[in-house]
Amino acid sequence: MSATESPDDILPDLDEPGSLPFWQGCAVGELRVQRCVDCELVTHPPRPMCPGCRSIEREWIATSGFGKIWSFINVHPPLLPAYSPLAPFPVIIVELEENPKIRFVGNLVAAPGAPINSVAAASISIGQRVRVTFELVQDVTLPRWVLAD
Ligand SMILES: [Zn+2]
Repeated sequence: MSATESPDDILPDLDEPGSLPFWQGCAVGELRVQRCVDCELVTHPPRPMCPGCRSIEREWIATSGFGKIWSFINVHPPLLPAYSPLAPFPVIIVELEENPKIRFVGNLVAAPGAPINSVAAASISIGQRVRVTFELVQDVTLPRWVLAD
């Protein structure tokens, strides 16, 4: 691995204040989303202004952590160097159970802590119920997904 291929390069930047509460939530086992203080519109990914009423008064709330697979792909190289040895692996889009307009892109794993290539894409179906799990990768806790039922 060269100096330019450090896995650090592909992890979230925890110094970015706009998304820091999301990553802090992951670290304590909460999948958080932003909610507008003025109109209560829930949004993800984080943004400084409410797309509904243009308020900049934002707060963070914990979600249920449950959702359904809305779509998925099976990724193959070329990929970022840190991911190539793991390919192919599925990437899923999850719609949040309590708010299907909120979607997360992530990895489906066979069990908490399992590698991102631990589930074969051929076994995945649209609509499968999933729940979030968390994995500490270096100094960042990342959300992952496992089948809920
Ligand atoms: Zn609003």
